[in-house]
Amino acid sequence: MKTMKDVLIKMRDELIRDISRRLKETSKSINEEVGDELDTTFQERSREFELLLSRREKEKLRLIEDALERIEEGTYGICEECGAKIPKGRLKVMPFAKYCVDCKEMIEKEERLSAEEVEEGLPRIRLEDLETEE
Ligand SMILES: [Zn+2]
Repeated sequence: MKTMKDVLIKMRDELIRDISRRLKETSKSINEEVGDELDTTFQERSREFELLLSRREKEKLRLIEDALERIEEGTYGICEECGAKIPKGRLKVMPFAKYCVDCKEMIEKEERLSAEEVEEGLPRIRLEDLETEE
């Protein structure tokens, strides 16, 4: 039987694969070689990877990573807000849920308010991140 961890890892892998594919398509000019230059290439790629991630993807990736961490810590399936057990049915639909339905609704209400503020300023790429380094 599949554990939640398997499900989450699969979700994360699929998400990363999708993003990587897009990254490749949008940066064909970038040398594909890894080899000796693995470190720099990886750093450059991570940066580009970051820039190409949409807010939604970043959020999802973060939620999956969080859920995997909670599995390691043994706190998975427990509402972070009120400490109640999150129903299995809910976890099946949303494997990275970290709140019970009640708390989630409350938090979403708050997030919707702050999300509107954030979207005003999109894209949220800091100028200094775009400067070429010496
Ligand atoms: Zn709760």
